[in-house]
Amino acid sequence: TFSQKNHKVVLFPGHGIGPEISQAVCDIFAAAKVPIDWEHHEIYTKPINEAGDLIKEESLNAVINYKWGLKGPFATPIGKGYRSLNVTMRKKLNLFANVRPCRSLAGVKTPYSNVDLVTIRENTEGEYSGLEHAVVPGVVENLKIISQPACENIARYAFEFARKNNRKKVVACHKAGVMKKGDGLFINTCKKISSEYPEIEYTEEQIDTVCMKLSKNPEVFDVMVMPNLYGDIVSDLCAGLIGGLGLTASGNISHTCAVYEAVHGTAPDIAGLNKANPTALLLSGVMMLKAMGLQKEGFAIEEAVIKTLSEGKFLTGDLGGKATTTDYTKAVIGHINL
Ligand code: NAD
Repeated sequence: TFSQKNHKVVLFPGHGIGPEISQAVCDIFAAAKVPIDWEHHEIYTKPINEAGDLIKEESLNAVINYKWGLKGPFATPIGKGYRSLNVTMRKKLNLFANVRPCRSLAGVKTPYSNVDLVTIRENTEGEYSGLEHAVVPGVVENLKIISQPACENIARYAFEFARKNNRKKVVACHKAGVMKKGDGLFINTCKKISSEYPEIEYTEEQIDTVCMKLSKNPEVFDVMVMPNLYGDIVSDLCAGLIGGLGLTASGNISHTCAVYEAVHGTAPDIAGLNKANPTALLLSGVMMLKAMGLQKEGFAIEEAVIKTLSEGKFLTGDLGGKATTTDYTKAVIGHINL
């Protein structure tokens, strides 16, 4: 848990629809009387220094100082010479866990109605360690790193998350039948940590079986913890189960700070047209409020979103409706019950 004295939050509106959906979040948070002050920071579309960074050092320091950040989508520059924003942020802020809750939302029709899952993805190593080279022409070695400290961090985070959020089960997803040492270390570490959380049911499941079960009967899972690549894929699969990326919140967590973000992109096709659905960024903000200890405001906003979606009168185009971003925002505000 982070300090609750300081409720200053860094806001990165980002690009494309980012500023519009950020404005919607600010308006809804103000209506719910959320006791935070936003500090706006920019993400650049061109490198701002020789290292190729797209973000100022002072913005990263602000996240470290205030402990909380909310980030809209950003346009990835085309070409070489820049450093991935996610890599810069992850390295400087040590955002080791990516958390994505996916819960069925009334009013959003999908083949599944009872989805309530959380994927917790190891975010610093595994297949995405960035270590690949050609051994000889035509043969590439791509190294998957699994280290005990990173496994312990993510496993402990998953169990702590389950405990704090009254979740009953944690499943460690792996392919240790084939990658006996690497994924073996991952599950052995999860198993060891699980003994400290006897109230939470712990199981292990091969990642291919997890995908089969998710598509057949997603209710069987609760909290799922996994290495980087599996988490990247399975978290999008779970977003699909509840209606897509426009509804899905996420958080990138370190031991001392966290940056919450919508998982969709900048939607250039509808940017500036007042058509974007702000739900994903809004629910990311709600996740942040709950982690900050602002449960009352978090639940009030979440309930207002659920009511607005299930009522179905003010749905944005991506959900088959005709409402503008501002119509939807007003409808959510109208449903806030403090
Ligand atoms: P996208 O998510 O921006 O758009 C895909 C489709 O989904 C589009 O039709 C878009 O209109 C729609 N959509 C997405 N979010 C929506 C919302 N909130 N409301 C309504 N409709 C929505 O994906 P893309 O087109 O592949 O990428 C566009 C840009 O975004 C690229 O520059 C890409 O690099 C960037 N991107 C950024 C992030 C991020 O910042 N985390 C993630 C993905 C893509």
